[in-house]
Amino acid sequence: MNELHLHLDGSISPETCLDLYKLQRRPLPANTAVELAAILSKAANSKSLSAFIDAFDIVDTVLQQNEAIERVTYELVKRIANAGIDYAEIRYAPVLSTKLGLSQLEVVQAMQAGVSRAQREKPVKIGIILCLMPNAKEIDNLDTVEIARQLKGTNVCALDCAGKETSGSLQKLVPCFTLANNYGIPFTMHAGEIDAPENVDLAIQLGAKRIGHGTCIVNYPELMKKVKEHNILIECCLSSNFATKAVDRILDHPIKKFYEYGIPVCLSSDDPTFLNTNLGNEWKLARDAFLFTYDDLAKMDNFAGEYRFLK
Ligand SMILES: [Zn+2]
Repeated sequence: MNELHLHLDGSISPETCLDLYKLQRRPLPANTAVELAAILSKAANSKSLSAFIDAFDIVDTVLQQNEAIERVTYELVKRIANAGIDYAEIRYAPVLSTKLGLSQLEVVQAMQAGVSRAQREKPVKIGIILCLMPNAKEIDNLDTVEIARQLKGTNVCALDCAGKETSGSLQKLVPCFTLANNYGIPFTMHAGEIDAPENVDLAIQLGAKRIGHGTCIVNYPELMKKVKEHNILIECCLSSNFATKAVDRILDHPIKKFYEYGIPVCLSSDDPTFLNTNLGNEWKLARDAFLFTYDDLAKMDNFAGEYRFLK
């Protein structure tokens, strides 16, 4: 099994998150891990993409030290390996962990150290995707691109843009993705999770190989056609899109329409901690809601294997 769309901070276990708060002597966001899990899940299910993203601050607060980043990455990779997943790409915006003085490079190196420690214990192939943030300073986003260039050839394999998507919000990242193209760094982009067809159009123009979510294109036949013609893979995250109200019901998710139209799709869990899900659960949801057969799901998994960034 392959999982291509998985956020580091959205995968932290509530137990570890709370433990890091204690170790770092910060005011606790909750008294118990169960309470913290409930807070994160409530934010995720608030039916607002914006409120969901704000809740990431609770996690990112404790990811300001190498040891914490290394540990959270290590634990995630161990979970991936134990779930029988053969290949996963973990994504994170290193700029989010620079509030106490770490450089973005140090953040990424801490992630790499966590991946290596887990891989020494259990073999699993892991790629790292560095996310740009539309609301970060351009100089910081350019720094992220430079680090992806510097670490090209390691497990840092691609770029992405995450954070709050608004209409036209990706426009300011054009210089960064143009630079990425010059450096030959492939990228995916969170686009079209909300009704923002222009963001998907821009992603296509910039040369994104994959699009995260892209749910809104189902309402724009021209965009559906373009995505198909450009052989772009859509990373579908059913629980996530339901939680943020990108779709009203799982049944309304356009994954089957994409699939039948001939757009390559794959399934991912996005933020398992917040959404109380995992890749296996996403497969079950897809099977039960859309009556996908095992062969359909295997085909999606093959797409994921084909479109993965780390070969
Ligand atoms: Zn995502």
